[in-house]
Amino acid sequence: MPHPRPAPAEPGLRLDSAIALLRQSGQAEPAAPAGSMVYLQALIDQLVDLSSRDALTGLANRRSFELALAREVDRVARSGESALLLMVDIDHFKRVNDGHGHAAGDLVIRAVAQALADSVRPMDLVARIGGEEYAVLLPNCPAAFGPQVAERVRRNVARRRVELPEGAPLAVTISVGGAFAPQWVRSTPGIWMQRADLQLYRAKSEGRDRVCLEPSASPEVSTRERDLLLGGARSQDRA
Ligand code: GH3
Ligand code: MG
Ligand code: MG
Repeated sequence: MPHPRPAPAEPGLRLDSAIALLRQSGQAEPAAPAGSMVYLQALIDQLVDLSSRDALTGLANRRSFELALAREVDRVARSGESALLLMVDIDHFKRVNDGHGHAAGDLVIRAVAQALADSVRPMDLVARIGGEEYAVLLPNCPAAFGPQVAERVRRNVARRRVELPEGAPLAVTISVGGAFAPQWVRSTPGIWMQRADLQLYRAKSEGRDRVCLEPSASPEVSTRERDLLLGGARSQDRA
């Protein structure tokens, strides 16, 4: 007759690995008494914050940016306020890495992140979405202000000099592509990013260190957006 199997051991809460993760990222353990509810909640809050940030710059990371973008698409559709998405890419960044080393490249990535964050309102979201690529999401940004805001972002980066451990301070430029989420189109985060990316591509090909925004007066509607729009109208018809 087979022996009954012992019950599996309780895995328990691995608080030690959570605390190690926080320490690695330079954060202190919560101050509340260890094991208390206040302590656990503070630990969870710190971990959530850690998982939404980019380690090098402290900006929002790609995952939290994509979540924010999806929320913004819904908000635009509900409220009718237009929002602007800017895609930003550092110009000729490979030259920085090749000429000054990877550590200098990292300093440039951080300096550009700071310049971007300094250029927008607290309600706007600045994220690092790739190596030397960023996105800026500006809720409630009327079309008439778009060019001014995007140009301010570009100019603030171009003006800044990045201090390096060796040699003269470095000047860098960015290219910026932007697109609005028009309220009357039920867009998706993916389509919105593609539209802004297309403008970024245009800014690069027209010479870099410039802003290209999708004309907001007559946005072209992609096949996918038309399907979404008509799909929405059809379901309203049925209701
Ligand atoms: P372009 O003006 O066309 O954008 O030219 P570019 O040289 O900036 O070209 P690209 O965008 O393709 O270059 C990105 C480079 O960024 C390649 C990669 O080695 C470097 N990179 C990506 N992530 C990091 C990082 O975290 N730190 C550093 N130092 N470099 C990175
Ligand atoms: Mg790039
Ligand atoms: Mg680049």
